[in-house]
Amino acid sequence: MRIYSFRGGVHPRENKEPTREKPLRPFLPKEDLVFPLGQHIGKPAVPVVKRGDEVLAGQLIAKADGFVSANIYSSCSGKVKAIERRPVGAGTMADCIVIDNDGAFTPVPGMGEKTDWQTLSKEQILAKIQEAGIVGMGGAGFPTHVKLAPKNPEDIKYFIANGAECEPGITCDDRLMREYPEQIVEGMKIVLKLFPNASGVIAVEKNKPEAIAALQKAASGDSRLSMLTLKVKYPQGGERNLVHAVTGGYMGSGELPAALGCVVDNVSTIAAIYRAVCENTPLIERGVTVTGEPAGNEGNFMVRLGTTVKELLEEGAGGVSEDAKKIIMGGPMMGTALSTLDVPIVKTSNALTLMMEDPVEEAEAMQTNCIHCGRCTRVCPLGLIPQAMAEAAQRKDYDRYIRLHGLDCISCGCCTYTCPAKRPLTLTFKEAKPLAMAWSKALQAEKEAAAAKAKAADGKEEKK
Ligand code: SF4
Ligand code: SF4
Repeated sequence: MRIYSFRGGVHPRENKEPTREKPLRPFLPKEDLVFPLGQHIGKPAVPVVKRGDEVLAGQLIAKADGFVSANIYSSCSGKVKAIERRPVGAGTMADCIVIDNDGAFTPVPGMGEKTDWQTLSKEQILAKIQEAGIVGMGGAGFPTHVKLAPKNPEDIKYFIANGAECEPGITCDDRLMREYPEQIVEGMKIVLKLFPNASGVIAVEKNKPEAIAALQKAASGDSRLSMLTLKVKYPQGGERNLVHAVTGGYMGSGELPAALGCVVDNVSTIAAIYRAVCENTPLIERGVTVTGEPAGNEGNFMVRLGTTVKELLEEGAGGVSEDAKKIIMGGPMMGTALSTLDVPIVKTSNALTLMMEDPVEEAEAMQTNCIHCGRCTRVCPLGLIPQAMAEAAQRKDYDRYIRLHGLDCISCGCCTYTCPAKRPLTLTFKEAKPLAMAWSKALQAEKEAAAAKAKAADGKEEKK
């Protein structure tokens, strides 16, 4: 059996043992639920409810604002308590719909009703996915209906299910693949109906043998589906690495997988597609791993979206030790540290990582100047030059940052992980990327204004 890999990357301690045998347990919250209007890439959704309205579980509460946006549904029944700004992540606030949860989880009529997807047209399938508010649940949050509607669907050769789950400590996708393989396989068949010339490839890291076996069994007999075993290496689940593993080709700077005939979706997203199309259920819950020594009860939970981190930790995960130093939304490599536990679980929240130590604090104490060892370049899966990018970002030289392909950085954390000088490289890039994009946009606008002015002046000259 050939095991696929990629250039660069690192081997952090997997740390999946504490939760990998813990099944996904449904967690039903009792407190208020909080739904940020922007849980996706694109324009925030627009509320279609107001304070005092009664809602049901699975009811639309905010409508997508345009094509690159996503609907938002209530995951509980109750009453709209407020539409106001609330904390949503690392020190950020955003407009949210707050629902006073009545604890009954009364569903909207028709939710859960079965549909045979084979009777649906491509347009009907895409409409159901769009209506259900599905976005990339692996962390990106890109609206799925946009991804599944490339310019030339007949040019797509591979639909790749991303089951790598390469980030340390996280096992909720592993559990999903082991417990609900049929949902993922049916979801793939549904998507393949949209791409007449594509094969489906289910890509899973070698350290998940049970998931591989379960998916293999569920997919057996379908000639369009195959399994791909990946080497255990971080970040194996990066889109570029998966596309390379499947096609052997490399995505260029700024290119999307479709440029190499691929569409990639996370396995949780694919299961959500199945539930939307076949069970008439919008995206209202997701798998979340709670891991780390400070958690009273580490495990995997099927969590209603909008549940606060505080309630999930206190009521689901058995509380948090007083000695906890840090709580991260996500995994230790790509996650963001939380400054409050009042933030909600959203469509892209796959894990809560609790730590007794703060590695950033420790690294700060040991930080020295760059010693130009080149290790960061060797491990960067994109072949970037992190030390040069960091230098450009610190000088606010965004022209150079962009020329170094800094906008391609996927914030995987490999460079920071390997740096002997403990430089906060990834954090620098996370901060620099939006600034560089804004700089580039402003420059473009300036150029366009100058060109328009020159054209207008030329016109006047000609008239004379
Ligand atoms: S790994 Fe750290 S010390 Fe080495 S070149 Fe990169 S930034 Fe400099
Ligand atoms: S964080 Fe960015 S620069 Fe650093 S290794 Fe990952 S992709 Fe490369």
